[in-house]
Amino acid sequence: MIINSIASGSSGNSTLVCSEGYCILIDLGISFRKLEASLRSKGKTVNDINSVFVTHGHTDHASGIHTFRNRTKIPVYGTYETSDIYVDEKGGFGSNQEMGVELDRFIKEGEEVEIGDLQISAIRVSHDARHPVAYTVQNGNKKMAVVTDLGEGNQLLERRLRECDVIIIEANHDPVMLEMGPYPELLKRRIKNPRGHLSNQKTGSILKNVMDEETIAVLAHLSKVNNTPQLAVQTVHEILRESGFKSNNLKALIPFNDPMEIRI
Ligand SMILES: [Zn+2]
Ligand SMILES: [Zn+2]
Repeated sequence: MIINSIASGSSGNSTLVCSEGYCILIDLGISFRKLEASLRSKGKTVNDINSVFVTHGHTDHASGIHTFRNRTKIPVYGTYETSDIYVDEKGGFGSNQEMGVELDRFIKEGEEVEIGDLQISAIRVSHDARHPVAYTVQNGNKKMAVVTDLGEGNQLLERRLRECDVIIIEANHDPVMLEMGPYPELLKRRIKNPRGHLSNQKTGSILKNVMDEETIAVLAHLSKVNNTPQLAVQTVHEILRESGFKSNNLKALIPFNDPMEIRI
C-alpha cells in the first residue's frame, strides 16, 4: 500500500491510498485543479482514482466533490446523513459550514466496501457534523486509518486503530496556544468541545492506547494558528515515551501541502 497526503489542515484535506492496481481518495476538500496538479506530481491522474470516501460534510473535507462528480464518473461514498439526499429529505443544513455532499453510495459503520483489493470500513467519530466517520483501509495484511475530524476518541475506534500499521490522526491544537490565540471565544469553545477537534494531548492519549513499536503515526489537520508541527510531535512523543514507547515512528503533516508518502 502507498499512502500520500494530498492536503491537510483547515484549508483542505485529502489522502490518496493505493494498492498495486487500485486507488481511493479519503476526503476531497480541495479544487479539481489542485487535485490534478498533486496527482500529476505523484505520477497519477484523476482516472487512476477508483472511488472517493468522504468523512463528513465540512467544506475542508468535501468542497471538491461537486466539480469532481461533474467531471468524472467516479463514485463518491459517505454516510447517508452526510449526503445532499439527506438534506433534501430531512431539510436543514448543519451549522459550521457543513454541506449536503453529493454522494453516489452510502456506507454504514461496520460494513466493508471492497474497491478491488482495498477493503474500506467506516467508524463513527465524535464531531460537530451530521454523521462523521473515520476510515480504515486494508490491503492484504496491511491496514491504515484516516482519523479526522474528532473531539475525543471512543473504544470502538481504539479497537480498530490497534489493527493498523499506519494511523493518520488529527492533532489539531495546543490548548495553551488556542487559549492565548486570536480566535473568538465561541470558536475556541467549539474547537475544545468533545465534538470539536483533538488537542495534541488528546491525540497522544489515543495513540498510546493503540500503537505498538512498529506502528507509524502521522499527525494531521494541524491548526496553522494554534499549533506547530514541532510542538505536536514533541507533545505526542513525550506522552508515548512516558508510556514506555521506545520507537519514534511519528511525524506531523505541515499544513497545507506536505508531500508525505508512506509505503507499507
Ligand atoms: Zn470537521
Ligand atoms: Zn476539518
